[in-house]
Amino acid sequence: MVNLKGKNCTCRKWNLTGIPCKHAIASIYTEYKDPSMYVDIYYHKEIQMKCYGDVMYGIKMEKYWTKTERPTSVPPKIVKQPGRPKKLKIMEIGEIPPVSEKVQANAQVIHMQCLQARRSQLQELFQTCQ
Ligand SMILES: [Zn+2]
Repeated sequence: MVNLKGKNCTCRKWNLTGIPCKHAIASIYTEYKDPSMYVDIYYHKEIQMKCYGDVMYGIKMEKYWTKTERPTSVPPKIVKQPGRPKKLKIMEIGEIPPVSEKVQANAQVIHMQCLQARRSQLQELFQTCQ
């Protein structure tokens, strides 16, 4: 049960997060209103600026950074996981699978063989007609 004026729902998601749940959004749309108007005031830009405006500073360019004597951080070593590595990636719907050069070369060879066979068949046909 959604209470738009009280900004709460019996599923309690709206109460906990301050963002309207799917039930609340459905009832907001039935009244032809904008669900973003029902988001808690703590998510509004002005409030966020007031909260973090004095604390958050921008970072200067790298040339202004202070140099340290400490060693630079190194990425972790890559450990080979057990099991056979995947040979094929999971394709998305509608994605065209890539064709390797080897397959393309074989296709051309086969195609040329077909053409030659067809040509010889036609030549034989011509010879028998004459
Ligand atoms: Zn709800």
